[in-house]
Amino acid sequence: MKHLRLILGDQLNASHSWYKTVDNNTVYLICELHQEASYVTHHIQKIAAFFKAMESFATALSKAGHQVIYLTLDDTAQYQDLPHLLETIIQQQQISQFSYQQPDEYRLAQQLAAFSQQLAIASTCVNSEHFYLAHSELSSYFKTNTKHRLEHFYRAMRRRFNLLMDGEEPHGGQWNFDTNNRCKLKAKDLAQIPQPLLFDTNVTEILERINRHQITTMGHIGSNLLWPVTRASAKALLIYFCQYCLPRFGQFQDAMTGRLGSFTDDNGWSLYHSRLSFALNSKILSPQQVVNTAINAYHDSNGDISIAQIEGFIRQILGWREFVRGIYWLNMPTYRQLNALDAKRALPSWFWNGDTTMRCQQQAISQSLDYSYAHHIQRLMVTDNFCLLTGIAPDEVDNWYLGIYIDAIEWVELPNTRGMSQFADGGIVGSKAYAASGNYINKMSDYCQDCHYDVKQITSDNACPLNALYWHFMLQHQAQFANNPRNSMVYANWRKRSPTVQEEILVKAQHLLANLEQL
Ligand code: FAD
Ligand code: SF4
Repeated sequence: MKHLRLILGDQLNASHSWYKTVDNNTVYLICELHQEASYVTHHIQKIAAFFKAMESFATALSKAGHQVIYLTLDDTAQYQDLPHLLETIIQQQQISQFSYQQPDEYRLAQQLAAFSQQLAIASTCVNSEHFYLAHSELSSYFKTNTKHRLEHFYRAMRRRFNLLMDGEEPHGGQWNFDTNNRCKLKAKDLAQIPQPLLFDTNVTEILERINRHQITTMGHIGSNLLWPVTRASAKALLIYFCQYCLPRFGQFQDAMTGRLGSFTDDNGWSLYHSRLSFALNSKILSPQQVVNTAINAYHDSNGDISIAQIEGFIRQILGWREFVRGIYWLNMPTYRQLNALDAKRALPSWFWNGDTTMRCQQQAISQSLDYSYAHHIQRLMVTDNFCLLTGIAPDEVDNWYLGIYIDAIEWVELPNTRGMSQFADGGIVGSKAYAASGNYINKMSDYCQDCHYDVKQITSDNACPLNALYWHFMLQHQAQFANNPRNSMVYANWRKRSPTVQEEILVKAQHLLANLEQL
């Protein structure tokens, strides 16, 4: 009786109970697949990081005594897709039982469920043993097509897992310390920003394979890979984060700067963020390991890490990360089609090369092309804000985000883009659209100081385009937005402007919308 266990590229969880015992009748299969490298145009660093992490994981399993088949793109190129490959391996190896871990992506879950159903041998789907909430528990926290709010879910998670709690009360006396955070970086702060801990992994052979198999990619890669692709390097990044970044994580969580350095000698791109998302989403690190390590660092820090910093960090992982997963699974596959604001425009071509005169967009896009990374506020309030204000079709937005970021896997990407930032889900994830004029970007960054446009202007030739676009967007969707009390000030401000000024703003916005390529 021979058992085949499939390990997907984002299931590199060395602590999974599968590996507790070594069994010579169990074969593990890890494979580089054309279907996974090309279901969207991915960043070159993203494909290289996944393949290298898979290869390293296979090597570690073999060293531990497990039977492993690792197939490269060269080996799998002849198969149309994963099911065709699996069929062959099952025959060749005379497999009598097939198992796989619950995929996090709907697409793969459907494909493997359909494959298993038609198999003549026994098959099982097991828990991936990664998240705080098991897949089977999601429906007790989330309902299909229903508006959910993070805060309620997050408090329930803190209570259930007894994290940052003093008995029944939140540690520090508050559930949320957001108001203590959200600071802009001042000139004196720039010199203190830690250099990011980067890795130097040789991926030459992988790049050759990607090239040989004509996989279309975007973005740039240096000679080596900067991301952690093994358990040891991911742990090193976690420790580095707790020591150097966590003490100011929350404080500068929303800040942005374009003032620091250039590629590979640059600390402005990640600031105090952890850059652990790839290690987490590929399951090299577990959320429990990250959360517990950070909380221990907080307790051992003699006050260097304040409650506002640790709470802000835990909320991202215990809160947001688990929250978007629940929204995704309870709303797929329809969530992928939602377009509540009826957005239809195409993404300007400069999203693929960063060649725009808007400094904020140029900075966030160029950085994303260089590193396959932008931090949360760059994604939400710079690039996605532009897409929201200009009515870019959600499919276009999703495909760009799903491709460009090192951590982009649909279960986490989709609720963040289609939901949180594009409001295409009509409010399932967030209570209001995160629309902003240039004012917000000026408040949280130094981008505007070096920009071709004037952030204080609305209608002049050199006016910040986001200003007129913002008003146009809020007016266009007034019927949907005006009932939300959080928008009442916005519409009151609009009414204070004379009809002539209102007209000028809307004409300016129409002109911009007709010329997005030229920005
Ligand atoms: P940190 O700022 O250090 O945060 C720590 C961890 O918290 C992250 O590693 C991540 O695991 C988790 N986290 C933080 N915010 C979120 C969030 N909103 N949703 C889920 N987890 C969160 N995250 C992805 O992992 N994959 C994506 O494809 C993705 N797409 C996004 C698209 C948009 C439009 C937006 C606004 C956000 C997106 N995020 C995504 C969430 C967030 O931006 C990234 O998790 C974060 O920037 C990763 O960098 P970091 O590890 O340095 O995060
Ligand atoms: Fe961006 Fe406007 Fe500021 Fe330029 S002026 S950086 S376009 S917000």
